Amino acid sequence: MAAPEITATAPKSFTVGGRAYPITDHSFDVVVVGAGGSGLRAALGASQSGLKTACITKVFPTRSHTVAAQGGIAASLGNMGPDNWRWHMYDTVKGADWLGDQDAIEYMCRNAPVAVYELEHFGMPFSRTEEGKIYQRPFGGHMMNFGDGPPVQRTCAVADRTGHAMLHTLYGQSLRYSTEFFVEYFALDLIMEDGACRGVMALSLEDGSLHRFRAHRVILATGGYGRAYFSATSAHTCTGDGNAMVLRAGLPLQDMEFVQFHPTGIYGVGVLITEGARGEGGYLTNSAGERFMERYAPSAKDLASRDVVSRSMTIEIREGRGIGPEKDHIHLHLEHLDPKILEERLPGISESAKIFANVDVTRDPIPIVPTVHYNMGGVPTNYHGQALAGDPSDPEKVVPGLYAVGEAACVSVHGANRLGSNSLIDLVVFGRAAALKCAEEIEPNMSHAELPKDAGEASIARLDHYRYAKGGTPTAQLRNRMQRTMQNNCAVFRTGEVLAEGKKLIADVWQATADIHVSDRSLIWNSDLVETLEYDNLIAQAAVTVEGALARQESRGAHAREDFAERDDKDWMKHTLAWADDAKREVTLGYRPVHDFTMSNDIAYIKPKARVY
Ligand SMILES: Cc1cc2nc3c(=O)[nH]c(=O)nc-3n(C[C@H](O)[C@H](O)[C@H](O)COP(=O)(O)OP(=O)(O)OC[C@H]3O[C@@H](n4cnc5c(N)ncnc54)[C@H](O)[C@@H]3O)c2cc1C
Repeated sequence: MAAPEITATAPKSFTVGGRAYPITDHSFDVVVVGAGGSGLRAALGASQSGLKTACITKVFPTRSHTVAAQGGIAASLGNMGPDNWRWHMYDTVKGADWLGDQDAIEYMCRNAPVAVYELEHFGMPFSRTEEGKIYQRPFGGHMMNFGDGPPVQRTCAVADRTGHAMLHTLYGQSLRYSTEFFVEYFALDLIMEDGACRGVMALSLEDGSLHRFRAHRVILATGGYGRAYFSATSAHTCTGDGNAMVLRAGLPLQDMEFVQFHPTGIYGVGVLITEGARGEGGYLTNSAGERFMERYAPSAKDLASRDVVSRSMTIEIREGRGIGPEKDHIHLHLEHLDPKILEERLPGISESAKIFANVDVTRDPIPIVPTVHYNMGGVPTNYHGQALAGDPSDPEKVVPGLYAVGEAACVSVHGANRLGSNSLIDLVVFGRAAALKCAEEIEPNMSHAELPKDAGEASIARLDHYRYAKGGTPTAQLRNRMQRTMQNNCAVFRTGEVLAEGKKLIADVWQATADIHVSDRSLIWNSDLVETLEYDNLIAQAAVTVEGALARQESRGAHAREDFAERDDKDWMKHTLAWADDAKREVTLGYRPVHDFTMSNDIAYIKPKARVY
């Protein structure tokens, strides 16, 4: 391929506020930002195809949040009884409350078994059945016979440490194929030129040096933004940095109002107790000792999908049937299960319950509450992982050079609500798909066009602005206001009034960011500065989340409006797009049609059905 025309030469240093910031330049075919399950799978795939691949990550790869995934990874292997990818697809469409793109859902469900066998061959130590097959457990919303039931055992597990095993397996494999890792590098911004992505700017946390990565393709795999909320099961590093980079590039995020609450976070600390606990036979009770899920979801009961269980728990608590002096939590029982099963299949959560709730699960129930767990929204992409530009005249138009995968992306396979164990499979299926598409589009070592003259300048100006921020409000105070507002005003149950107040409170915090104070001016391991950059990333996402929620006048999946209790397919079966203007601190909303078609002729479009649980 001929060398592209040289357009300009980017300088090796920028001077901001009288301070010079030297830059180290790098050139790669593919740069992946993020080393969780999705980033590692994408980096591995790109490296396998011979593309020169970098993986930038702010934490050591095996410390990414994927490491905390417990319950498992969904794939219709049929090891424990009959199963079929079409049933998996049906459940995912239904779980998504018909907001998922069915072509992408088909792609995920039919490729899931291959992706799991691939992990097995990479060395992932799955739990086994007596015959030596991969062990699979039931998980909420996964059923036989196109939802008719009974529950199917579809979730492949490595005890209750599936993400841990997966991350270590993928990290080992990506080293084998020579992915170059930039560990503890904090990605700051995308480098954009004429609507195309040309690379990424990053700060080395260790020595404060600035790095400009030029790449033919950038894959964002930066995970979710659970930390916009006060109580979340996700790691403190889950600040959606890639999402915010996309917003700053003037591109939209999709379906951000759909935030999943996990029914079983340990009361008071937010630590997750996997749905696998109910999969193995655990059940919930209220203060009367009643197994209340039988009332809300007569057939799926405790294994109904997460939005249903979280809402049912919240109703019990609001109606005064919660447990404890404040009547503010629910009990999860495992004490009736065989201790051998607990030891074998749920050792991690037995330990978490002991450490964080002082409960011996063989004797007593665990106190739990619904806790923020997953972000369905993110960077809109097609099923190749290519980011979409949000062009109203061409909803399928892609952003040249930019991809997104994993929780950072909105493919959208999870629509309005993700089924348990469908994220881990999303990570590997679409991480792989993105790498395949990159390999199709570019060749190893293609020459790079020069970067524009100002490549990275705005990003360094932002860094310098916060580094020397001398306002009166510490970052922690703003972050706390944001997190509490999101927790109170954009939670499991929503009304127009509560959301409108949330919109105003978040807008106030966003405005108050002008008065932020950072104390540490250094560039070496400056956690004050990094937390400020993360907070700044979170506040824009909080704003688009609450505004999208206020605008959506219906109830669908995780978005439950008390004032609009019904799903409204006529007016609202569409994806929300949200742009944020960082300078004006304003949000603009738009919409994109949901894909009402499948990928192949192997299965017809699954038509919307009323919600019956
Ligand atoms: C406690 C818990 C249990 C879960 N259990 C399950 C389960 O059993 N099954 C299931 O399917 N799903 C589960 N999920 C959901 C699933 O684990 C996550 O959605 C998924 O792991 C996210 O993976 P990811 O690759 O998108 O990102 P992550 O694993 O979150 O990784 C993000 C990566 O991006 C990097 N990064 C972020 N910002 C920057 C930046 N500015 N610069 C450089 N690097 C950056 C980080 O260093 C990290 O490497 C669980 C989630 C939680 C929180």
